[in-house]
This record gives sequence, C-alpha cells and structure tokens, in this order.
Amino acid sequence: MDLKGKIRVIEDFPQKGISFKDITTLIKDGEAFKFVIKSLADLVKDKNADIVVGPEARGFIIGAPLAYELGAGFVPTRKNGKLPAKTLNAEYKLEYGTDIIQMHEDAIKPGQRVIVADDLLATGGTALSNIDLVERVGGKVVAVAVVIELTELGGRNVLQNYDVFSLVKYL
Ligand code: IMP
Repeated sequence: MDLKGKIRVIEDFPQKGISFKDITTLIKDGEAFKFVIKSLADLVKDKNADIVVGPEARGFIIGAPLAYELGAGFVPTRKNGKLPAKTLNAEYKLEYGTDIIQMHEDAIKPGQRVIVADDLLATGGTALSNIDLVERVGGKVVAVAVVIELTELGGRNVLQNYDVFSLVKYL
C-alpha cells in the first residue's frame, strides 16, 4: 500500500522549517490503519512482547492497537501530572529545554518483554526516555516500532542498541 500517499505533509508546522508528517489522514482510512497495525505486528511478532509502551498522545493511537494485535498489554506513558498512581519520571529534550514523561511504577514487571511504539521517530529522544522508564523497572526493550522514520535526524543511531522497525522513511 502507498502509505506516503496517505500521510499528509504540512510545511512550517508547528514552526517555520519543520515539515510535519500528519498521520490523521492515514488513520481515518480504515483499510490503511489496519494495514499499518498489521504490518508493524508482522515485523515484531517474533519478539514475543508482553507489553507495548506508547507515549502520549500519538503513541496511544499506534501502540494500543498494536498491543491488541499482538495479544500484549498496553502501558501508556504520559505528560507530567496525568497519571493517577505512583509514577517514575524521565526527562526528554524539547527543542528548547526539557519536559517530563511519566509511567506508573508498577506498570511493568522485571523481565517483561517490551516494545516501545510511536507514530514517528525523529531524534530518538522520546523513544529513549520511554526506554529509560522501562529499563529502570527491569523491563527488557525488545523493539522500537514506529510508522514513520525521519532518517536524517539520527534516531536510529541514538537507538543503536535496540531493534528499530519503521514502515515509511523520509529524509
Ligand atoms: P523525537 O523525540 O525527536 O524522536 O520525536 C518524536 C516525537 O515527536 C514523537 O512522539 C512524534 O509524535 C513527535 N513528532 C516529531 N515530529 C513529528 C512529525 O513530523 N509528525 C508527527 N509527530 C512528530
């Protein structure tokens, strides 16, 4: 399937010089959405994951159905202050400064096999902060799975110790 044809690219959003890859046009197409989830599941099914972790907000859109398709559980990581029970925090880089992402401290048991899923991999900072949370509670990250990879931003290099899977690549 021509996934690039389904992804809308918006120049200068959210600021000048950024070429934003918008998956809303892909996921509103039922056939394309199913194809994306099934394709990602095919790439990672031999990893025998127990849990898929997805960061707020677009990581929920990809991560939850991927977990369902794999028969795995889903664990959300969220922006500061959104999760109700006791959390672990990790910092991740924004263009200017840092922000905090949180996960429930009892979300993953030591030894569980975990896939980190998101819509898009750019610098890898978001994936790394999620990996940090998983590893601090003893989880084993067996894959990072994304729909879109922006290859020139180097996320794959930052994640060189992990198996990275993507369906669509842009420079
Ligand atoms: P990274 O942390 O630099 O790898 O950026 C990836 C994160 O930023 C993901 O959670 C994405 O949802 C978000 N992101 C960055 N660029 C885009 C884009 O062009 N489209 C959609 N999301 C983006």
